[in-house]
Amino acid sequence: MSMAEEACTFVYEPPNGTAKSLLEAAGITENDIWHCPHHTKKGDDLCCFHKPVDQKDDAEVTEEIANRIQAVSVGDDEVLADNTLQFVGAKLGSLALSDYLDEIDIADRRLTFFGSTIGRTNWTGLSITAGNVDFQNILIDGLARFSNTTFDCETEFRGSKFNGPTNFKSATFNETVEFIGVRIAGYANFSNVEFSGTRSDFHKAVFEQKANFSKMEGSPNFSEVEFGAGANFSKATLTGIFDSAVFNGRAYFKTATIPHASFEYVTFTNETNFYGVDFDAAVQFDHATFEDGVNFKDADHDHLSFPYADITGARFDNATIPFANFNHANLSDAIFEGTDLRGSNLASANLTRAMLFDANLPGAFLSGTIFRDAQINEHTRLLGHHTDTIEAKQPTPTDTTAKQCCVYDPEYQPDNEHKDVAEARRVYKKIETLANTHVRPQLETRCKSRRKELTTLLSNRQ
Ligand SMILES: [Zn+2]
Repeated sequence: MSMAEEACTFVYEPPNGTAKSLLEAAGITENDIWHCPHHTKKGDDLCCFHKPVDQKDDAEVTEEIANRIQAVSVGDDEVLADNTLQFVGAKLGSLALSDYLDEIDIADRRLTFFGSTIGRTNWTGLSITAGNVDFQNILIDGLARFSNTTFDCETEFRGSKFNGPTNFKSATFNETVEFIGVRIAGYANFSNVEFSGTRSDFHKAVFEQKANFSKMEGSPNFSEVEFGAGANFSKATLTGIFDSAVFNGRAYFKTATIPHASFEYVTFTNETNFYGVDFDAAVQFDHATFEDGVNFKDADHDHLSFPYADITGARFDNATIPFANFNHANLSDAIFEGTDLRGSNLASANLTRAMLFDANLPGAFLSGTIFRDAQINEHTRLLGHHTDTIEAKQPTPTDTTAKQCCVYDPEYQPDNEHKDVAEARRVYKKIETLANTHVRPQLETRCKSRRKELTTLLSNRQ
């Protein structure tokens, strides 16, 4: 080896607990220690990528990286070793590749910054074609700019830390992208991002400040993600999984389009807004907790699912949410003014102090439902069939007609699969009490007489 081609003495020892598969992906196999393959300048121990930042020129280093990328992209890869684009554990001050390149096209090869420390970086507008771009376990101390970057490659940010503002605005990920376990300490801008690869994964990511995902499109996994100070998904088109995520600031989904999503065991600690959301199919909030209320005003969806959720004080005014599942949900102080709840499952739900003016509950399952201090008015419909047409705010038809039944009543419909005479009697008793409190004499009479008929029915059977 000539003096001009001294080998860099840098070795990268991965932090304890780094998965072997990640190391192998980064080319770290030899006893889990990576030996730098790059050459040093005459007399140096370290190559330009591993020299301390204050002993080198950022622009020169960036240019060297850009030149290597160019060399590979024009087909010089036959003379370049596989490890040409391995920058494992690099110490980089500013990595502004956008200043040198418009595109990166290294076909199916890897570009690796695994374990690197970077002062700030700029990939704005770059179009990247590669087998894989590896930013795992990196630390970016300042501004990270990836706006309008197109990733036609697998992209991995697993375990990375962004200390400054992080801008992915209008970036496009056409293949799998992993942000698993990343921590973003600055403002995170993912607005207009398009995730169109088969997988985009933010599992266990932590956003310490505001996270902006407005107008994003795609199906990311946000399970167990911590949104520390507000999350904005307004106008997003989202098929996402948010299971066990925690929203510590405001959660804003206003006018988003959510064809399918799961919010099971999610905790929303702050103001939560789903106003005007277009839910196309099943959306699950099972066991979710909304600590500061939630706005589903004017929602129009027929299979929202909230079993065991805590949605105290939620607003569902004028929402059309037939067949919603509120089994065992805590709906204390919820507002259901003018809400269409036909056929809903409110069994064992807690509707203490809930506001039910002009609400429609024909065909609702009310077994074990708690109506303590719930408020109804003369237009609240509690009996009838779920197929009954509703005309909110019109005077209700008389509550004493024959078909004014609860869902457990044998007369509810022929071959009533929900028939439960004892349960029906309990529900009539409950509505009777509610009707008495709110001066609904016809409703009270209907419940009382039907309850007596069922008592007779029961005793005749015995
Ligand atoms: Zn080196």
